[in-house]
Amino acid sequence: MLNDVRVINETTAELQLTGACLVCEGTLELRFSPDGARAFCATCHTIVTPRVRRHPHRGLAIEFRAVGLA
Ligand SMILES: [Zn+2]
Repeated sequence: MLNDVRVINETTAELQLTGACLVCEGTLELRFSPDGARAFCATCHTIVTPRVRRHPHRGLAIEFRAVGLA
C-alpha cells in the first residue's frame, strides 16, 4: 500500500510502501532521483533496487531485486 509521497525537489521524490519488504513484510522507503531508484527496509535493513515500468492501462508497476543488507 502506498502511504505518502514526499517531493524533495524537482527531480527527487520519496515514498513509503507498507508491507512491501520481501524479507520481513515491513515498510519499504523508496527514493527516486536522477541517480536511479533505491529502496530500504528500516525493519530488517534490506536494500533493494526497484525497477519501475509504466503500463498504459494499469499505471506504474514496481519490481524489487535485493542487492544487500545495511
Ligand atoms: Zn524488511
